[in-house]
Amino acid sequence: MAESIKRVSFVGMGFVGLTTAAFFSSRGIPVTGIDTDVDKLQKIKTGIIPFYEADLEPLIKRTTQNNLLKLVSDYEPAVIDSDMTMIAVGTPSNEQGQINLKYIKAAAQSIGQALKQKEEWHLVVVKSTVVPGTARNVVGKVIVKESGKKLGRDFGLCTNPEFLREGSALQDSMTPDRVVIGEYNEQSGRTLENFYNTIYSGNVKIIRQNLETAEMVKYTANSFLALKISFANEIANICERIPGVDVMEVMKGVVSDFRINSNFFRAGLGFGGSCFPKDVAALLNFANEKGHNTVLLDGTLQVNSYQPLHAIDILEKTLKDFNNKKIAILGLAFKKNTSDMRESPSIKLIKGLHEKGAMNIFVCDPKAEKEAKEIFQNTISYGTVEQCLSQASACIIATDWSEFAEIPPEQFQSLMIEPRLLLDGRRIYDSQSFNGHVLYKGIGIGNSNDP
Ligand code: NAD
Repeated sequence: MAESIKRVSFVGMGFVGLTTAAFFSSRGIPVTGIDTDVDKLQKIKTGIIPFYEADLEPLIKRTTQNNLLKLVSDYEPAVIDSDMTMIAVGTPSNEQGQINLKYIKAAAQSIGQALKQKEEWHLVVVKSTVVPGTARNVVGKVIVKESGKKLGRDFGLCTNPEFLREGSALQDSMTPDRVVIGEYNEQSGRTLENFYNTIYSGNVKIIRQNLETAEMVKYTANSFLALKISFANEIANICERIPGVDVMEVMKGVVSDFRINSNFFRAGLGFGGSCFPKDVAALLNFANEKGHNTVLLDGTLQVNSYQPLHAIDILEKTLKDFNNKKIAILGLAFKKNTSDMRESPSIKLIKGLHEKGAMNIFVCDPKAEKEAKEIFQNTISYGTVEQCLSQASACIIATDWSEFAEIPPEQFQSLMIEPRLLLDGRRIYDSQSFNGHVLYKGIGIGNSNDP
């Protein structure tokens, strides 16, 4: 009975899987990463990482070169030769927003088929974000069916939701706030707890719960963070109607209360990325199917969908129309320090501007240009900050990259043309220093000229 995890197999070499696998192997644990996307594996092996994440590239190079991290497309023998298999395949939304479990089911099938060949006890851990009941009723049952083995006796099962953030993924893996373990039985939970205690030398807070509670922890955490952002945006949109009021100043007063922390409480163009939008939608649909009407979760998504449209409204009020006017958009990624454009507000912004007739859109992003080209091809122009701002009537800050925060007001003033509208969609500038140089507007700033 393998109670100590010496070797790990990891299914899904995407953002979470690749980062976590590289981190485990950097701690001396041999990891075999499994992915069905052979091209992707080939690229990673030659040092081409499919997304940008600080410090990850050298770590992957090092761990693949010293053979602690191996990448394969076959489940056998990777699963058989390991003590634990973690699943980190995607769990996207379908068109109605419900969770799509096809990758999870396929992974469970392949793990089950491999486990059929294995005699020793094995631990299966679901790291993907899944709605409550998925590990027990989908993963567990599929593996039992495919392997002919008994859950609990022949193999263990845990859920282990992942909380790392894109943009600081490795750092988050190295120093997590907590590790949440949902366990099918005591043996499964204990084995995973021992593994993490080895990885973190005992310096990590571990919370052990049942499978469904741990699955619910992840959705609750993400939905609450999304709610905080939408709440800040709702308040910002009210502040814009009160001359002399700035949401940033309001929040300063609010977060001084020890009960309210300032993280994820900033107004702007809204949240995006591969997690918040789909996780809120998945929980909302899950709850609705269970007969609960999700007023707050609905509102969270509604406010979020509105923010980019609100930005377009602000532009339209000043520019009147978009005919022959050049619009600069600084930032494409859904947040700084990542190349990820999944569900990025910039997509809605650009599509909305196109619908309004804005045909001269120039964009710039330090890392996400390749991703943007896949979405927009040549319907927009790509350039440096200078090329974007030159002769632009308006500029929207869509991502909080520090490169953009360093652009001095004089540069906007000298490159742009009247009315030099700068809409700070991420509130990265001090409004006072921009007044007089450009027509500065920020999400959440009450303006005496607006209705
Ligand atoms: P991703 O889309 O980047 O990667 C998924 C990988 O799984 C892909 O490489 C794909 O080829 C592979 N795959 C699909 N089916 C497979 C199969 N049957 N066998 C082997 N490989 C298969 O996804 P991601 O962003 O890493 O997210 C994975 C999970 O982690 C999701 O449930 C997500 O919600 C959750 N999560 C993501 C983040 C994040 O920041 N991206 C953070 C926390 C949790």
